[in-house]
Amino acid sequence: MRIRERKQGDGQLKLIPLGGLNEIGKNITVLEYKNDMVIIDCGMSFPDDEMYGIDIVLPDFSYLIKNAEKIRGVFLTHGHEDHIGAIPYLLKEIRVPVYGTRLTLGLVENKLKEHGIKGNLKTVSAGEVVKLGPFEIEAIRTTHSIADSLCLSIDTPIGKIFHTGDFKIDYTPVDGEPIDFQRLAQLGREGVLLMLADSTNAERKGYTASEKVVGETLESIFRGSEARIIIASFSSNVHRVQRIIDTAVMFGRKVAVSGRSMINVLNLAIELGYVKIPAAEILVDINAIKKIPDKELVIITTGSQGEPMSALSRMANNDHKAVQIRKGDMVILSSTPIPGNERTVSNVVNRLFEQGADVIYSDIADIHVSGHACAEELKLIHTLIKPKYFMPVHGEYRHLHQHAVIAESLGMKRDNIFILENGQVLNLSKNRINMSREIVPAAPVFVDGLGVGDVGNIVLRDRRLLSESGLIIVVASIEKSSGEIVSGPDIISRGFVYVRENEDLIESARIAVEQRLDKCRENGVRDWGAMKNAIREELRDFIYIKTRRNPVILPIFMEV
Ligand SMILES: [Zn+2]
Ligand SMILES: [Zn+2]
Repeated sequence: MRIRERKQGDGQLKLIPLGGLNEIGKNITVLEYKNDMVIIDCGMSFPDDEMYGIDIVLPDFSYLIKNAEKIRGVFLTHGHEDHIGAIPYLLKEIRVPVYGTRLTLGLVENKLKEHGIKGNLKTVSAGEVVKLGPFEIEAIRTTHSIADSLCLSIDTPIGKIFHTGDFKIDYTPVDGEPIDFQRLAQLGREGVLLMLADSTNAERKGYTASEKVVGETLESIFRGSEARIIIASFSSNVHRVQRIIDTAVMFGRKVAVSGRSMINVLNLAIELGYVKIPAAEILVDINAIKKIPDKELVIITTGSQGEPMSALSRMANNDHKAVQIRKGDMVILSSTPIPGNERTVSNVVNRLFEQGADVIYSDIADIHVSGHACAEELKLIHTLIKPKYFMPVHGEYRHLHQHAVIAESLGMKRDNIFILENGQVLNLSKNRINMSREIVPAAPVFVDGLGVGDVGNIVLRDRRLLSESGLIIVVASIEKSSGEIVSGPDIISRGFVYVRENEDLIESARIAVEQRLDKCRENGVRDWGAMKNAIREELRDFIYIKTRRNPVILPIFMEV
């Protein structure tokens, strides 16, 4: 059996998604052929509501660490967090070169600086081919909501693999550089074995509008306004930021920038030439805006997702040093809430209205377009690339499923479509492709403060319990040999009830514990583990009957 397996492995390519499936986030895919591996993207994701106290979520790198000497490099499609966010954490584990376009690597470099590490970063441009072991990776221009995005055609010993990266089809992108359709059509003619394609918007019919639409909406808003304009957007969407600056200039306004990530990314984008400032005096310091009349000012800020510490949230809460929202201000949220952020965004919008601002958000005007392809655009890519096999990526299960339905509607056989889970392995050979029984570890790894991976399911379960019903601590000093209570028991609680208003409850709980301890002593129970269990049981039942709550109960005994 072993020998056969090894033989099968000969000349076989393994494709392993370590993240990005059944989720929108932490995209990372591994290609492995004999003694060589390449990694496509290395992203992080943000925690969901159940992940108490978790800052960010990383892919599991254990398979990569185990195979570190095989890895020839990481190839990045673009600079979004869900594609580059885990790079610093990977580079702390293994030293590998990282390939990407200038803007992508500029953003990576900023991250590495924050983590105090140096990377081996290798810039590639659209049209270039990089040879990494047996893999020849061709970088092809695509359009997305960040500049300098790529799709990848990867020549492998068993055939061509095409990865769309994140994309939408924008015929009129801000930088005038549309997708390289000629090359895609050519690839289709040359023959593509397997295509991996972005599924984010597979459920949406029709087409995603061009970034140009946002520009037109901005123009019409600016044209009709004498107010001070404050616009929140994703800092990474440098084309959007460019559009805002251009529109400001067109209407004789100056631009101030607020928010750390907006300032960092804008500086980088200006330095690398992705954002052009027509004249230096256009940009004004955020602390000098008082001197500028309202109708001559635009403030670009972070916080379009309602992030609590962001500049926009601070403005909305009247807690921003330089910007106090006044009646008549025009605030534009140039984004749609990422699923899960709707509540926080709504809170910010409410606060802004309360402060007297006019607020424009995507429900009431076209001030945001998605960066991902809708159904009709996906059909075009499938038709151009005409892959033999197809694997939908970048989406929750519903998105992957819907994308598979689209592929089938174009004539692809169901058997040729592979919907995987993170950690599943796809085996490809020249005439066969199948799902392996091998599973690679791919559970989410949580980052909390400086700890990476030290918070697991047990800690999270405790945090959930604590968050739901709080904590009760029982403290008692006990004479070990006799079991006599010397002092206490005392009851301390946090997040359970407000003690001052519930003194009776706490006192009767204390008496219940005392009686139970006495009973233990009478029955000759001296084992502290057993006594603690008895207290937990007693208190749990007592509190449940009185309050219908289940706090975490923590008995602490001190020996005297
Ligand atoms: Zn993206
Ligand atoms: Zn993405």
